[in-house]
Amino acid sequence: MRYLILSDIHANWEALEAVIAESAGRYDRIFCCGDLIGYGADPDRVVAWVREHCPYVVRGNHDRASVGMDDLEWFNPVARAAALWTQQHIAPEHADYIRGLPKGPLLVDGLQVVHGSPFDEDEYLMAAGEAGQAFSYLESRIAFFGHTHVQGGFIWNHARVETILQPAYRSDCGVLEIDSECAYLLNPGSVGQPRDGDPRAGFLIFDSDAQMASYFRVPYDLEGAQKKIREAGLPPILADRLTVGR
Ligand code: ZN
Repeated sequence: MRYLILSDIHANWEALEAVIAESAGRYDRIFCCGDLIGYGADPDRVVAWVREHCPYVVRGNHDRASVGMDDLEWFNPVARAAALWTQQHIAPEHADYIRGLPKGPLLVDGLQVVHGSPFDEDEYLMAAGEAGQAFSYLESRIAFFGHTHVQGGFIWNHARVETILQPAYRSDCGVLEIDSECAYLLNPGSVGQPRDGDPRAGFLIFDSDAQMASYFRVPYDLEGAQKKIREAGLPPILADRLTVGR
């Protein structure tokens, strides 16, 4: 079985469209690690596509905030403005769909899908130390997470945690062979708002028969997404940051 893993789409339709085109024919099933909406200008198009194509989705913190499930006081002013904009613009049926999403971990085919980490949906797994603790909560040998918008993840080799750094740097695809002796926390990177210095949309394809994880980066219509953000009246920095992928 081949799985397409998506995370942190953040209402960026142009980025999702490029990922859909690039991944066509390469997967059997889709997992989504949350944050479908918030930041970008196309919440309805993104939610409509995910609803139709992806039965395995966990919610993210921006999903909760963008449909009024969370107090916004913990958000910075830009994130808060984007959440309020989304609350005002998302179609009621799409907001209902978001409210019904599980918080994870979701266990499917012996694989785990989470937003932040296996023990806390809002936890950021940025460094090996945090990941080391997260491995002790895993119910499967392989889990997929998002939230940090950094493509890569971590490997537990029973002695220490190794960081998977920029797997698709200077290329379109980086392949990781899965070692049956190790455990993996794999981050597909963000589709709609990368923060690892590479502005291209990120995604991952995991092939469970071949035991291979392939990290992809794909360029998309950046200017189109930025124009929509500016014209929607969202904070302009949300358009600007897409240029640099930070
Ligand atoms: Zn996010």
